[in-house]
Amino acid sequence: MSSLQMKNFLRKNPNVRTIRVAACDLNGQPRGKRVPSRFADKIVENGTRFPVSVLNLDIWGEDIDDSPLVFESGDRDGVLFPTERGFLPMPWLEAPTALLPIWMFREDGRPYEGDPRHALRAVLDRYKARGLTPVVAVELEFFLIDDSGRTLEVPISPRSGKRRKAAETMSIRALDTFDIFFTDLYDACEAMDIPADTAISEAGLGQFEINLMHGDDALRAADDAWLFKWLVKGLARRHGFAASFMAKPYEDYSGSGMHAHFSVLDEKGRNVFDDGGSKGTDTLRHAVEGCLSAMKDSALIFAPHLNSYDRLVPGAHAPTGLCWAYENRTAAIRVPSGAPAARRIEHRVSGGDVNPYLSLAAILGAALNGIEDGREPPEPITGNAYALDLDHMPGNWSDAIEHFEKSEIMPRIFPEELIRNYLLTKKQERHYMAELSPKEQVEIYLDTV
Ligand code: GLU
Ligand code: MG
Ligand code: MG
Repeated sequence: MSSLQMKNFLRKNPNVRTIRVAACDLNGQPRGKRVPSRFADKIVENGTRFPVSVLNLDIWGEDIDDSPLVFESGDRDGVLFPTERGFLPMPWLEAPTALLPIWMFREDGRPYEGDPRHALRAVLDRYKARGLTPVVAVELEFFLIDDSGRTLEVPISPRSGKRRKAAETMSIRALDTFDIFFTDLYDACEAMDIPADTAISEAGLGQFEINLMHGDDALRAADDAWLFKWLVKGLARRHGFAASFMAKPYEDYSGSGMHAHFSVLDEKGRNVFDDGGSKGTDTLRHAVEGCLSAMKDSALIFAPHLNSYDRLVPGAHAPTGLCWAYENRTAAIRVPSGAPAARRIEHRVSGGDVNPYLSLAAILGAALNGIEDGREPPEPITGNAYALDLDHMPGNWSDAIEHFEKSEIMPRIFPEELIRNYLLTKKQERHYMAELSPKEQVEIYLDTV
C-alpha cells in the first residue's frame, strides 16, 4: 500500500474511527498505540515515535538498573513508519478498527538494527545481493484453552487416551467441534490477506495446526505469522475461550511448533535445491550444513523462553539431536519427498512461541552461510533420531543464552545491536521468571506467547 492508498483506505472506511499502530518487539509481542483515525494521515506521513527500549524489554526485571539500553541512552526515541502492508482490519475487536503495522528507524532515517523486522530484511538483502530469493511457508501449531489454562476437551477418539501422544492427529471430529471458530478464523484471514491454507487437528486434545501458503517474500511470511498469532488469540477470546502458542503447555501432550519450509530461487526463478531427482542439489546440502552448524548458537531464537526447552524432548515429534534426514519427522531438519520442483528444507526446531521475524532470519541466515561456505553436512540419518547418540540442542535456557552470547556465527546473521538487546531481554526474563512459581510461569506464557 502506498501512502496515498493508506490515506484513501481511511477515507473509504469512515466507520473505522480508531487505528492501532504496532511494531513487533523482540519477544514477538505487538507494541504500539491507539490513535483516532482522523490523526492517522500524520502518522502515514511523519511516522510516530516511541522509546527504543519498548522493542527490547518485554519484562522488566530488577536488574533493569544495569541496562545500558535504557539508561545509558537516556531512553531515546525511535521513529516508526508504516510497513508496505498498510492498513488491515482487526476482525477480533468489537469496534471497527484498522491496524497499521510499523517498524523502527533511527532519527537520521537509517533502519534501527534492533528491530527484528529489520534483522530479517537484512538477511534477505544478503540473498538479493547473490541473486537469490528464498521461498518460505510456516506451519503454526496452537492449543485452544479455557480460562483456567486447561486445554479444551474434544470428543476423544477410540485411538485416544489422554496420555497417548498421537491421539487426535488429523481427527476430523476435533475440527468439527470447533467449526464455527475455524469458519470465523478463515474469514478473518481472508479479510487480513493472510494466506491460511489447510487446518488439521494436532496430536494434543484441543491442539491444531494451520499452514500458511508459501510465497517468495519471507518478510511477508513473517508478517503473516505474527499477525496470525495475534488474530487467533484475539478471535478465540471472542469465542469465549483462549488460544496459546506456548511451546509446551502440557507435559502429557506434544508441544506446539512453528515449522518453516523453505527453498531458494535463482534469478531465473529456478529452485536451486531441485536436482530433478529425490535427493536435492549440493546447494541443498550446503544449506542444511549451515543450519546444523548454527543450531546450538541460535537455539535461543528457536526456543526463546524458559518453557521452550520442555518441548525439545524425545518422542514428541520435536527435535532433540542435531541431524537431518529425508522424509523423517524425528530429525531437526527434514527434506520432504514429493515433486523435485518443490524440493525444500523443513526446519522443525522453532516452537510456536518464537518471534517469527527472528526465527526466519536465523534459519535463512544460517542456510545462506552454508551456501556461501559450501561445506558438506554429515550423512543424513535414517530411522529414529531419538534412539541415536547425536550431538544435542542446548538442554536448557541458560545453556542456550550462553551459546548465543559466545557465538561467532550469530554476528554473521544478526546485527550487534540486536544481539546485545536480545541477550538483555532474555537475561531480564530469566531473572523475572526465577522469582515466580512454576504455576505463575505457565500462566504468563500461556497468555502471552
Ligand atoms: N508438535 C510437534 C512439535 O512440537 C510437531 C508435530 C508435527 O510434525 O507436525 O514440533
Ligand atoms: Mg504439526
Ligand atoms: Mg511440519
